[in-house]
Amino acid sequence: MKTKEIINRARELAKPFRVSKGKDFRLKDVDPDDTLEFTKEADKPRAKEALITGVAALAELQDKLYAQDKWAVLLIFQAMDAAGKDGAIKHVMSGVNPQGCEVYSFKSPSSEDLDHDYLWRCMKCLPNRGHIGIFNRSYYEEVLVVRVHPEFLAKQKLPPKLVGKQIWEDRFEDIRNFEQYLARNGVVVRKFFLHVSKKEQKRRFLDRIDDPLKNWKFSSNDAAERDFWDDYMEAYEEMIQETATKHAPWYVVPADNKRFTRVVVASAVIETLASLDLAYPQVDDSKLKELSAAKKKLLSN
Ligand code: ATP
Ligand code: MG
Repeated sequence: MKTKEIINRARELAKPFRVSKGKDFRLKDVDPDDTLEFTKEADKPRAKEALITGVAALAELQDKLYAQDKWAVLLIFQAMDAAGKDGAIKHVMSGVNPQGCEVYSFKSPSSEDLDHDYLWRCMKCLPNRGHIGIFNRSYYEEVLVVRVHPEFLAKQKLPPKLVGKQIWEDRFEDIRNFEQYLARNGVVVRKFFLHVSKKEQKRRFLDRIDDPLKNWKFSSNDAAERDFWDDYMEAYEEMIQETATKHAPWYVVPADNKRFTRVVVASAVIETLASLDLAYPQVDDSKLKELSAAKKKLLSN
């Protein structure tokens, strides 16, 4: 397939899952088991091939992004446990040059983090121009886990008069403004919610318990969070409604089928990079003269 075809195909695959306007978004409209035309088992090889093609195209685009050194790309991943964030990041980014890509995982905040505003620890990790930055969880936890478990909010040392009912609205507004600011500075933000079903999560947890090689991945705390499933889904839905914008859209990606998830994520990254005016820097006349002089010298001794 030619690059142009790959990009068109990527646009087609990513489009149904892109949310650029949150107002009418409903989580129930996205089926975690959706695979578009990649119908399960029989299509495994096709999904695999689509991913291989996608990864190669992505590597080419990233090379230009790096050489051009103007745009920065920030990819944010949010999901319930075992939805496949780590696998998606690993597979989709497998072809890119590690020199132009950084991954940061945001866990429970440290005491130093809690001594600052909540964006602080994420701002320190924003990508350089020419780079792709990946946030495995992010400041969005501030309207997810912190909302579902108010005890986390209590630990944030905020002046009490700033903590009222309006705090989530305030946070959505600040996040929207922050992402607008990034967009205006050439930092292209794309956000992924890997949407796994409660049933598939259970299956994956049981697998982690039964397979000795996966035991290390299992945490009882993750399983305990299932009691708050509905609260999380509500929080995710509102988060997407409030923060999906044209310049920083969410992709709500079905996550019950890992291969399909990865194809959609790769497609979304490809469509994002392809939407930028990426090109290798033009060499001007004086540079051409410099190159030809250097060549002459190298050939002469
Ligand atoms: P994996 O389980 O695949 O290793 P993970 O991202 O789930 O990856 P964990 O160490 O299991 O990593 O969990 C990180 C935990 O930190 C999550 O439960 C998340 O909700 C929590 N966390 C992240 N940011 C915050 C925050 N700002 N406040 C409170 N908890 C947070
Ligand atoms: Mg975890």
